[in-house]
Order: sequence, then C-alpha cells, then structure tokens
Amino acid sequence: MTTDSSREALAAQSPVGALRGVGPVRERVLREAGIETVLDLILRVPKSYEDRRTVTQVGDVVTEGSYTLVGVLEKVNTVRLYRRRMTLVRATLRSATGSLAVTWFNRPYLAGSISQSEEYLLHGRVRRRGETLELLNPSLEAKNRAGLGAAIVPIYPAIASLGPTLVRQIVQNALQAGVLSDIDEPLPENLLREHGLPALGEALAELHRPSQDGTVEALNAGSTPAHGRLIYGELLGLQTELALARRRIRGREKKHRYRNLAGVRERLVVGLPFRLTGSQNAVLDEILEDLESPSPMMRLLQGDVGCGKTVVAGVAMAAAAESGLQATLMAPTELLAEQHYRSLRELLGDRYGLRLLTSATATPQVREDLRTGRARLSVGTHALMQQAVEFDRLALAVIDEQHRFGVTQRRELLAKGERPDLLVMTATPIPRSLAMTLYGDLSASIIDELPPGRQPVVTRVESARKRESVYRWLEGELDGGNKAFVVLPLIEESERVEAEAVEGLGRRIAERLGSYRPTLLHGRMDSATKSELMNTFAKGESQVLIATTLIEVGVDVPEATVMVIESAERFGLAQLHQLRGRVGRGARPSTCIAMYGRLSQDARRRLEVFRSTLDGFELAEADLELRGPGDLLGTRQAGIPGLGLSDLVKHRHWIEKARRDARDLVRDRPFEGESFLAALESRVGVQAHLAGG
Ligand code: ADP
Ligand code: MG
Repeated sequence: MTTDSSREALAAQSPVGALRGVGPVRERVLREAGIETVLDLILRVPKSYEDRRTVTQVGDVVTEGSYTLVGVLEKVNTVRLYRRRMTLVRATLRSATGSLAVTWFNRPYLAGSISQSEEYLLHGRVRRRGETLELLNPSLEAKNRAGLGAAIVPIYPAIASLGPTLVRQIVQNALQAGVLSDIDEPLPENLLREHGLPALGEALAELHRPSQDGTVEALNAGSTPAHGRLIYGELLGLQTELALARRRIRGREKKHRYRNLAGVRERLVVGLPFRLTGSQNAVLDEILEDLESPSPMMRLLQGDVGCGKTVVAGVAMAAAAESGLQATLMAPTELLAEQHYRSLRELLGDRYGLRLLTSATATPQVREDLRTGRARLSVGTHALMQQAVEFDRLALAVIDEQHRFGVTQRRELLAKGERPDLLVMTATPIPRSLAMTLYGDLSASIIDELPPGRQPVVTRVESARKRESVYRWLEGELDGGNKAFVVLPLIEESERVEAEAVEGLGRRIAERLGSYRPTLLHGRMDSATKSELMNTFAKGESQVLIATTLIEVGVDVPEATVMVIESAERFGLAQLHQLRGRVGRGARPSTCIAMYGRLSQDARRRLEVFRSTLDGFELAEADLELRGPGDLLGTRQAGIPGLGLSDLVKHRHWIEKARRDARDLVRDRPFEGESFLAALESRVGVQAHLAGG
C-alpha cells in the first residue's frame, strides 16, 4: 500500500460530496444511483478504454482506421431520415492541416451542444464512403476539459444524468485526493499471490489510470490482472458466503422423520393418468433420498417448461402429509397458486386437508388450519410468509419458479418450520455456469425430457406488417376448434401513453375475434378478476385469451395450441421461451408466432435464436452470450448477487478457482472465512444473500 505522507489522503468512506466537482445536486444524483461514498464511486470501473496516445493531424488521415483527432467542428447540421427512423448529425472537423466529415447516428442532442468556437478531441473509426473518408460516431470532448490528454483513456458508463466525461473527471479528482492509499485489502494475501493478482488499491489504480505502456486490447477484453483481481474478489466473496451457508445447513440434523416413503410413492404413481418419465423418476429417487437423510434437503429442481415438475413435488408433499407432517408449496402469483391447488387436489384428493393461502383467501380459518396442523398440505403465494401464518410441523417447503423470489424470501419461508426440507423449482433454464454461482448452496436435479407424445411447437417470426394475415390464419385455427393465447408486452409504468395504446390494441384484437368469446386480461385488473377470467378460458368457455400483462409463468392449459406474441422484440429470450411453453402441452400440433415491430440488432439476433431452437438450455446459453446474465434473470429481482463486473461466461475459470478457494477457506480456516466476509461486506459492499440462517 502506498502512503502519501506529504498530505492527508481522502478517506475511502468519505461521502461523495467531499469530492471536488461534486456539489449538492450531483451528490444527490450519485446517491440516488447507490453511490454514497468515494469508495462506491471508484468501485465502478470503466466500461472501455480508448487509445488516445497518438493524436493524428486531421490532414494525415488518408486510410480507414481508429483515430484520435483534434480540431473545431463546423457546419453542424441535423438530417432526419424519416423512412429509416434515424437522425444524423453531420459536421466538418477542421484543423490547420485539413478537414474531415463527421457523422453521428441517433444523437440529435449533439447538434445543440457543439460550440463552434471550441476545440474538440474526437476519437473513433474512420470509414471510406465512396470517394471520401468519414469519421463515424466518434466520442467527443472539449479539449481543454478532456483531462487526461494523450493517453489510454477510460470511458465510464454514465451515472443517471452525469455523462461519461463528467464521471471520469470526478473519479480522477478522487484519485488525486489520494483515496487509493486509504483502501484496505480484504482478500487473504496468500490467495492473491497464488493467482498472481494485484492488491485492490493497485488494481483500481490501473483500471482508472492505465499505465501508458500497456495494451488497450487487454483492457477492453477485461483480461488484465487488475480486472482479474476485481472479478476474482467478487466471485470469492459470493462463493465464501455460499460455502458458509452450506456449512451451517449441512451441520444440523432435522427433527422430523418420514415414514414409508417408497410405499406412498408407489400408491400415488399407480393412480396417475400417465406414466412418469425416466427423468421424473430419477429426480424422485434423489428427492426421496434427501428426505430420508438426517440433514435437511436443499435441492434445486430444474426442468424445462412443461416437463412435469409439479407432480414430482406433489409426491414429495404427499409423503410428508402421510407421515403426519406438513408440506407447503409457494408460487409467485395467485393464478399459479390456484392452478397448483387444483392439480394437487386432483392428484391427492382432499385426504390431507389441502388449503389455498393467498392474500384473497388467507382467512382466520385457513390460518387456524395451518397452525393446528389440520391442513397438512397448503399452496400459496407470498402471503405464506406473512407473520400471522404459522405451521404446526412444517417439514417440507417447495418453492415454484424460484427465480421470481429472492433468497431472503426463501429464508423467511424456511423460518416457518424447524429445519424443514427445501425443494426449489425453476423452469428458467439456468446455464450450469450461472447455476453454480447463484445456487452454489443447493444440490441440483434436472428433468431433461418432456412427457412422450408432445409435438414440437412450430415457431414463426413475422413482421407486424403481416398482422392481418396472421390474424386471418388464427381465425382459421379457432374455427377448427383450437384455443389460443395472444400476448401483448408488459409496459412499464413510465411508458403510460404506450401502455394505453397497448391496451387499445388488446381491445381491437378482442373485437375482431369477438365471435370466439375472447377473454381480455389487463394490468389494471385485480387478481381475483384475473383468475376468474383465466378460469373461463381454462374451462373452454372462451377460445382466446388476450393478455396485456405477461401471461403468468407456469400456466397450464393443455388444450391451447396457438401462442401469438405481439411486439416480441420487447421480450427477453427466457420470457419468449416461457410463453412458447404455454402451448405444445397436448397431443395436437402447436404454433407460436412472434410478431415484431422495430428491430434493433440485438432483438433481431434474439428472435433468430428463438426460432432456431426449442431447447431451453441452448436458449439460455445464447441469451447469456447475447445479453449478459443481468438481463437473463432480470436485474431488479431480489436475491441476485451483485455481480457487477464478472461475466459468467467469460470468467468461468475464475468461478472455478473462487469456488475451490472458498471451500478451502471455510474448511481450513472458517474463522478467516467469516472475517473475510465481514470485511467484504463493509468494504466492497457485497450484498448479503445468505441462504438459511
Ligand atoms: P412444469 O414442469 O412446466 O411445471 P407441469 O408440472 O405444469 O410442468 O406439467 C405440464 C403438464 O404435463 C401438466 O398438464 C401435467 O399434468 C403433464 N404431465 C406431467 N408429467 C407427465 C407425464 N409423465 N406424462 C404425461 N403428461 C405429464
Ligand atoms: Mg410449473
């Protein structure tokens, strides 16, 4: 660690407002973005780097390539291309040595902010267009404010209204104030040495102020030792938490015992209207073995949409009830909870006092039944976690669509019993690399086959301009007696005008399909109304379900054979896959039509992948490559660890190392594991998301 003795260094924990260039207004913006301290700020590392070590004279640009240029901008004008829905800003860059055309795409605000009297530093690619050369989409900074001059320059993500250049200035001010000398190293030294990694302070210095003899390629690929240090640190923190949680859980015996597991299984399975698949049977083996074991089960059951997870959970739940114990199943939505309630009643009858507990049905009577144990089985929503809900002998908790809940919620449900067994299920296919990181504390089971007789869903991707012919085709299907879903995208509150337009579209579609008794679900309905309408569709009183909200995950209406997705470009691959999974559940052939409006590059690739495979895991891997893990799982979901920098695909090898080291740390030096974590939490702000308690 370097100490600057000549003057007092700024403390890493100082409020960001202590920095030069951060007044009350900017401080508020930063705080709202979650940046409270100077340390929070400098832990946000640059997203890329530009090599501006050589400034080329404008007159010397004669070939294509990447250039840093200085000059004034003249003849700035805006061109709108209505047909292509594009705005171009054009200008001429002029210096004493020559001039060059500059074009920016879709950055109309630039035109108003360029000052004709200022000298600018531009960096970007020069392309040939016919006879002339043109600088395309360069970054742009007033030269006297660019700060670092000719250097490898870090480019920061904007923080709300604070643009990249401003963020850089503020970070540089922090470095100048000596904050790096106040950073303690939270990682054990021997591990850093073993992996050849620099200390945290050094790593941050390199990332914010790259040494000028390095290569910009390594920086941009995130493959420098400095990047490695942050990535490894992030992952080691996460893996240590998981290892500690695992140790806490594995070390304890459960109090309940199951009786005659094999007998219960056999009796139930014989009564099913279908035969379990090999995969379902194998997973049941694993689960029943866990139930038999003296330590509590912690199992993740993954299986693609429609593979039949519910029945597997049902058998385990019945085993609990049969032993005089209680089991409960928590689902993320009321619709889904009700559906599970119906399936379990069908599977098990009402032998075990099955109850439904949602915010609508949580009557004192239902709660009483759970508390006294009269209800051995229950199904519910978040309402199950309310304080007023108590169980008599909760032995098994099942969580469906686990990715919709956070780890905290998992823990809250577990706290309703004394070391209950836990089974969490998800249909969001999670690539192994990610599963290991997110659920490293759970054992995993996979159902990797669909029930026999299912026909592959035919997927079509169509422009919204073909809407008329798509709906004509749909009418043909409905005339043939088939059932269909039409899904309109979920619109954020902030897009209210658009939300109204979407609901309008829903109504127009409903009108058009009027003779098929359509059901229209929209976001403003309360959940009782929604499930009533859903039932109308499930029972066949309505042939079309039009939903302006995302059709709830897990909905099971086996007779439905058509899924039309409007504005499919707005959905992520995982969501599209979930939606497509609503059809193809019966013996009849099914079709999914994804309609798109305006396509970005990414959306186009997404839809191409969607059309090309029905395999959820393949889609998930592709999604991870295309969009990164944050988008796959929805960054706003609770319980997803704050993996800022780590890219779970690119950094698989670091995940492996971190996992191994974390295990050793917790096994050999458990105390150090704990203190390392404490240090991490206070210093590097890793979110707490321990499993169990
Ligand atoms: P998911 O795994 O997506 O939750 P579900 O449990 O909803 O899937 O099951 C989908 C459908 O498949 C249900 O209608 C269920 O009754 C049926 N099913 C489950 N297992 C089998 C099987 N082995 N053979 C035939 N149908 C099955
Ligand atoms: Mg399900």
